[in-house]
Amino acid sequence: MKSLIQKYGSPCAISAEAMADEWVLHSGLSALPCLSEIHGKLQSYGLSLEQATIPGLRGHHYWYRDDDPTIVYQDGEWRGAVEFTLLHELYEVMLGKLGATASGDGCSPDADVCRGANQFAAAVLMQKDIFLQALYQSHFDIVWLHQHFCCSYSAIAIRAVHLLDQVEDASRRDLACVLYQRRGDPQSWHECDPADFYVDCVACTSGLLPWSEGQTGGLLPRRGDGVSPGSIVELSLKAGRPVLLGTTRASAASPIANLVLLSRPVLWFGHLSKVILQGMTPEDGHALEAQAGRLQPRPITYSGSRLT
Ligand SMILES: [Zn+2]
Repeated sequence: MKSLIQKYGSPCAISAEAMADEWVLHSGLSALPCLSEIHGKLQSYGLSLEQATIPGLRGHHYWYRDDDPTIVYQDGEWRGAVEFTLLHELYEVMLGKLGATASGDGCSPDADVCRGANQFAAAVLMQKDIFLQALYQSHFDIVWLHQHFCCSYSAIAIRAVHLLDQVEDASRRDLACVLYQRRGDPQSWHECDPADFYVDCVACTSGLLPWSEGQTGGLLPRRGDGVSPGSIVELSLKAGRPVLLGTTRASAASPIANLVLLSRPVLWFGHLSKVILQGMTPEDGHALEAQAGRLQPRPITYSGSRLT
């Protein structure tokens, strides 16, 4: 902690990402840290960890004067969520300590601190080089990455887009990810109705921003939107399997821009629980086609102005 202040002068001078790199190096954390390892590291710093039912919160932390801090996290969450929460809170504890020992210039308001804390947690759990390598090797497979890195689908999508945007050489790819979530209590899920799904997360590299901003007829939906009738997402939900709009379709007939699109429903205990919609440019689209190849998707094309 002190070495960070000596190096950077103020806690505000170091980005959450750089702080994550420093911390991984300093703590000797592994490339794919598991929950017990994170637990162990935090406890070795004298932090106490407590599980509790905390309505509306994933976690928080507190400390009394001169005491070591306690991190409280939501009871009954899955492993990946707990890992993320512990690291989020660790960042806030470190910032608090740095702030207290540095000039105390009170960095920034809470929302900024929380955003930094999310970036810190993501950077520790999905370390840049190995994450990018896995992203390319898996052909941008969000489901595989979710299982491999044990992070939520949205955390994976946001991290992928964030890191792809930093790539400046020829290996740069543009990617759009839209995650649809199913409403309601899983206990009451029976028949699958596309109307039950809504957009939970949209992540998109800068090269595809025009698609998200509606200049091409609003190809990419926005957060909170439902499933559009006749869309690729609706088709994949009705088919109950992945649907691919590939590079070989007649692009002239396509009313939407030339993105290669893969819509992939995700099962959870036998029920369709999410849909992952991914888009890439035709030059990069072979990556999505390679991902889809394993899933045996239903290929679709445009006939008239409709997807079939
Ligand atoms: Zn926070």
